[in-house]
Amino acid sequence: MTNEELWKLTLHDIEIELSPANFATWFAQTAILDQLNGKIMVGTPSAFVKEWLENKYLKLVLKHLRTHAPEVRSIEFSILSQSMLPPSKTPPPKPHEEQMDFRELYVDKDTNLNPRYTFDTFIVGRFNEIAHAAALAVTEKPGLAYNPLYIYGGVGLGKTHLLQSIGNQTRALFPAKRVYYVSTERFANDIMFAIRTPSEKEAIKEKYRSFDLLILDDVQFIANRTASQEEMFHIFNAMSEASKQIVFSSDRAPKSIINLDDRLRSRFEGGMMADVVEPDYETRLAILQAKTAGKEEYRPAADILEYIASVIQTNIRELEGALNTIVANSKIRRRPLSAEEVKEILSKNTKPRKSLSAQHIIKSVAQFYDVPERFLFEKTRRKEVVRPRQIAMYLLREDFSGSYPYIGQKFGGRDHTTAIHAYLKISNDLKKDERLREEMKTIRSHLYEDDKS
Ligand code: ADP
Ligand code: MG
Repeated sequence: MTNEELWKLTLHDIEIELSPANFATWFAQTAILDQLNGKIMVGTPSAFVKEWLENKYLKLVLKHLRTHAPEVRSIEFSILSQSMLPPSKTPPPKPHEEQMDFRELYVDKDTNLNPRYTFDTFIVGRFNEIAHAAALAVTEKPGLAYNPLYIYGGVGLGKTHLLQSIGNQTRALFPAKRVYYVSTERFANDIMFAIRTPSEKEAIKEKYRSFDLLILDDVQFIANRTASQEEMFHIFNAMSEASKQIVFSSDRAPKSIINLDDRLRSRFEGGMMADVVEPDYETRLAILQAKTAGKEEYRPAADILEYIASVIQTNIRELEGALNTIVANSKIRRRPLSAEEVKEILSKNTKPRKSLSAQHIIKSVAQFYDVPERFLFEKTRRKEVVRPRQIAMYLLREDFSGSYPYIGQKFGGRDHTTAIHAYLKISNDLKKDERLREEMKTIRSHLYEDDKS
């Protein structure tokens, strides 16, 4: 058997065990380079892929290699330049992918699930590995593995995708189980309506308690809605006593949700919490490669994908958006775009950070900490206000390049030394306060997300 044949057989077996997205991400451009005394040398396209294969897939690869070549003892991965590796032979598009546009619009009315979001199309990397593993565990043993599961992280990092995948997979594995996905805003509105309408009050409780899997997206929006929190707490209690699964997403950790009933907070924290963070450059590139797999005709060249991965640093939604824009442009022109053209298109679509207004920063901070904006300008020294004010000052300096006198002026005519003090205080706290770092990241993710709209 030649190296090529052996690898082809092995990949075939591996493909069956992995989701298509993960298979394309990690195995598309690999090849056996050599064999020597039971050792197999496998070439990979980057240090990133090499490391991931070594850490995550070594056993799996070895197992399947051995079924075809029992003499194999070990594997060594190495990095090769793209030109030496096989072109990424991606699986032919599955029929359902061609119907994506239709499926995209189709949301099941009973469950609110969109079939577009599945584990199959979810790419796993260091940035979301734990959240993904926890989500899978929940679908295997709903109500028993981690209850509740609480997934949190910034905008556009795949929380909704993951939550919906849990729902879709659970439906597939346990058709008898009742699954319900709902945004927290809608959930809270439902409850408000029911509370005001006596005849509805019991009905809504019954409705929610009847679900085996309840998925609540963006639960940070429950903050301040006292009546809804009360009902939510009772619904969760009833559900968890009956071992029914609840899954939450949020843009922040429970401890960072302000105006949240302590009982609810401890419920959120009582199961499994997993965060998703921003993907690094290598992961962004891997995501772009996976998302263009099987679409050879309009697939941008390798250096274009690298360029997109290097300039779009915020989140996966933006990354997808940029990729779609490039592909759409190239379809219209019926030819691949040059690097210059890509740069031009992306620079039009991504606003530089400077275009943020000071007002915008202040508003985002006030919203995040749930204090009325005007409090930030007033003289009050209340702790709930002082901290957000300092954070807003810090951001004005750091992201807006405001001068200290300007910042002092902006906040109710304070002295420039107040602005300096705030800046240094927050800079210092950021070094040692993990929670503050997380909050800052979320504030920025909202800031730059809104900036694009
Ligand atoms: P969030 O709910 O965290 O704001 P979404 O789940 O809406 O983010 O994700 C934004 C977009 O990015 C969606 O189109 C989603 O399919 C895509 N996406 C996010 N994470 C992944 C991933 N790990 N693999 C593939 N696509 C992803
Ligand atoms: Mg979401």
